[in-house]
Amino acid sequence: MIEINGRADLLSMNIPELEEFLASLGEPKYRAKQIFAWMHKGASLDEMTNLSKKLRETLAERAVVNLPTVEQKLVSKLDGTVKYLFGLWDGNVIESVFMRYKHGNTICISSEVGCPMGCRFCASTIGGLVRRLTPSELLGQVIAAERNMGERISNIVMMGIGEPLDNFDNVLKFLSLVGDPNGLNIGSRHISLSTCGLVDKIDELAKHDLQITLSISLHAADDETRSSIMPVNNKWKIAELLEACRRYFAVTGRRISFEYTLIAGKNDSPDYAQRLANTLRHGLLRNSQPFPIHVNLIPVNEVAETGFVRSSQDAVKRFSQVLEKNGINATVRRKLGADINASCGQLRRAKLAGDAASENVDEN
Ligand code: SAH
Repeated sequence: MIEINGRADLLSMNIPELEEFLASLGEPKYRAKQIFAWMHKGASLDEMTNLSKKLRETLAERAVVNLPTVEQKLVSKLDGTVKYLFGLWDGNVIESVFMRYKHGNTICISSEVGCPMGCRFCASTIGGLVRRLTPSELLGQVIAAERNMGERISNIVMMGIGEPLDNFDNVLKFLSLVGDPNGLNIGSRHISLSTCGLVDKIDELAKHDLQITLSISLHAADDETRSSIMPVNNKWKIAELLEACRRYFAVTGRRISFEYTLIAGKNDSPDYAQRLANTLRHGLLRNSQPFPIHVNLIPVNEVAETGFVRSSQDAVKRFSQVLEKNGINATVRRKLGADINASCGQLRRAKLAGDAASENVDEN
C-alpha cells in the first residue's frame, strides 16, 4: 500500500485493494466502487455525499485522495491548447497539456518529476530525476484536467516530463486504473506511451500484451550521433533497440511509431534522411516479416540551455520527402500551443527558476 504522510493513497488503489482497505475499517465491500467512482470524477472526501459522515471522517484520518492542484493554467489564443502546471502534495510541480483534436480531447501527461535520461535537447532532464510519480499522480493529471475543463478526455499520451518506462510498475498500474469501466474507462487503444528506448523494459512491456501505441524516440540514424544527444544509446545501440521493436511488434501486433527531432545541422540533411531510411529498413524489415514504419518528425523546440537550433521548414520538407521516397510514412508534428510554451519541461523550469530567484530576494 502506498502511503502519503502515513495515510493510505486511495487513488492509487484498484477496486479489490479498496475493498480490502475498507474491510480493515469494518466497511462493506460495495463502498469500494462508490469511492472509486467519486475519486475518478475528481471529488474530495467531503463531496462523497452517499457515504456516512462518520465514514468520511474516518477516511480523512486514515487516507487521502491524492489529486494535484492547479498551480498555473495557460490557455493558447491560437488553438485553445491548455497547459497546466500541477502542484503535488510534497511541493513538486509537473506539467500536463490538454489538446483538442478532431478525434477527441487528448492530454499529454508527465510520468516523473524531472527525468534521469539526460537527452541533450530536452528541458525536462536538466536537474535530473527528483522522483517518480505514484499511480494516483499519473491518474490525477487526467482527472484534474477533466474536472477543470468540464470536458471529457478520450486520449492520453505519455510524452510529458519523465521517462515512463523508468517508472514501470506505477505506469502499468495507472494503465489498468484509467481503463477501469467504473472510472475514466480510457482503454489502452486510446493511450500512447513514448520512450527513449529502454530495451529491457520494452521486452517486459511486450509480455503484458497491452493495446497501447508505443512511440520510440529515435532522433538519429547512427550510433555516434545518437549517443552524442541521447546517453541511453551508450547502453543499448540502435540495432538492439530496433530488434526490441521487432520483438514487440511480433508479440503485440501493435504498430510502433518513431519520433525524430530535427536539429539544424545535426541530423536534418537529405543525406542523413537517406541514412535514417536505410537504418530503419535494415533494422526492422527482416525475414520478409512486415513492419509498418511510421516516423513522426518534430522540429526541435529550442531550449535556452541546450543551444540546439530548429530546422527550417524547407529542411523538414526535404527530409520527409526522402523518407517517403524510401517507402517510409512520415508526418510532421503539428505544433499546438506555440504561444504558451506548450512543449514539455519549460514551465516547470521557469517555476523552479522563479522560486530560486524569490529565495535569493528573501535572503537579501
Ligand atoms: N521520455 C520519453 C517521453 C518524454 S518526451 C521519451 O524520451 O520518449 C516526448 C518526446 O519529446 C520525445 O520524443 C523527446 O525526445 C521529445 N523532446 C524532448 N525535448 C524536445 C525538444 N526540445 N524538442 C523537440 N522534441 C523534444
